[in-house]
Amino acid sequence: MFVSPSCQESVVPATVPGCGRGRFFRHPEPETPRSRVWPVFVTFHGCPGRCLFCAQHLQSGHAAQPLSRVLAAMTTGLEAAGRQGRGPYELAFYGGVFTALPEPWPQRFLEAAGRFRDAGLVTRVRCSTRPDACSPGLLARLAGAGLDMVELGAQTFDDAVLRAAGRGHDAAAVRRGAADVIRAGLGLGLQLLPGLPGHTPQDLARDAAETAALAPEIVRLHPCLVVDGTPLAGLYREGRYVPWDLDTTLWALADVLPVLWRAGARVARIGLCPEPALQAAVLAGPVHPALGARVRARALWRLVADEVRAMGGFAAGLAAPRRFAGEFFGHAGEMRPAYAALGLDRGNVRFEDRADFFLAAREV
Ligand code: SF4
Repeated sequence: MFVSPSCQESVVPATVPGCGRGRFFRHPEPETPRSRVWPVFVTFHGCPGRCLFCAQHLQSGHAAQPLSRVLAAMTTGLEAAGRQGRGPYELAFYGGVFTALPEPWPQRFLEAAGRFRDAGLVTRVRCSTRPDACSPGLLARLAGAGLDMVELGAQTFDDAVLRAAGRGHDAAAVRRGAADVIRAGLGLGLQLLPGLPGHTPQDLARDAAETAALAPEIVRLHPCLVVDGTPLAGLYREGRYVPWDLDTTLWALADVLPVLWRAGARVARIGLCPEPALQAAVLAGPVHPALGARVRARALWRLVADEVRAMGGFAAGLAAPRRFAGEFFGHAGEMRPAYAALGLDRGNVRFEDRADFFLAAREV
C-alpha cells in the first residue's frame, strides 16, 4: 500500500524526515491480554515414557513428587494468595501429561480449581498434554469439569522427526488432537520444538504453516537443547546429534513469528525459562538469556525490510509505536547494521504514541 497523507486516517508524523509520502503498516502481533499464571507442576506424571529431549524436572525447577503433595501445595499456596489479596490467576498444569493422570486426579485438581474460581481467585484453567492423550470423550468431560484450554506438545508436524524422537505419535495425531480440543469448546495452544534430530529450518517453516492453519490461541517455541541426563545427551556425546547453532535458530524462529502472529496466535514463550538447574545441565544448543527479544527484533526487522523493499529499497525515516522502542535496534544494538542497509538509524527512527508504523519515502 503506497499512500499519500491526504488519503490516510493514520497520521503522517512531522518528525520523520522524507517527502511526506510513504507507507503505513501495522505490526501483526495480536494483543496480549495481561494475566498472571499460577503454574502447578505435575512433573512426569502421565508420561508414557521419557521423551528423547525431555528434562521437565530441570526445565520447571520442580522435581517429580506424589500428586497428593502437588495438590496440597497448590491449595495451600492459593489460599495464602487469596488471604493476601493477590490474584486473580490463570491456573496452569504443566510438566507432565495432565489428561493422562491416573483417575481420579484430573477431576480432583479441577474440583479444587473450581473452588478457587468460585472465590474469584482463578479465572481460567489450562493444562499441557500430549496430542495422543486427549480423546473427544475425555476432553468433553474435562471441559465440563472446568478446564478451559489445552496446550498440545506437538513438537513438529514432520513424521520422520517425530519417529526419530520416539514420540510415539505422528503428525496426524497432532492435527486430530487439535481439532478435538477445538470441538470440545476449549482454547488451543501448541508447543513446537525446533531443532530435534533431523529437523531443519525448512521443516520449521512448514510446522509454522500447519500450526497457523489450526489457529491456536497461543504457541510456544522451545528450541531443542541437549540437557545432561536425557537420551538426547547420549546421542550428542556419540556424535549422532548436532543441535542448531544460535544464529540459525534466531533467524529460523524470526521467520516463523509473523506467520503465527498473522494467524492470530500469541507466541507466549520463545525458549525455555532460565531455571538455574537447567542452565547448569545444558550441554549444547541455542541458549541465550535474551533469546526471545533477539528473535522478536529480527522478526520486526524483516517486517520493516519487506515494507522498505515494497517502497523501492530505501527509506528516509520511520515513525514507530513507542512500545517497540526497547526491541527495535535489537539486543545491544545488534540490528543497527541491518537497519542502516535500509537507510534507517537512530537519527531518523522516532518512537511515538501511535498504533501503526509510518515509513517515509526517500525524496527523488
Ligand atoms: S515431553 Fe511430555 S510426555 Fe515426554 S517425558 Fe516430557 S513431559 Fe512427559
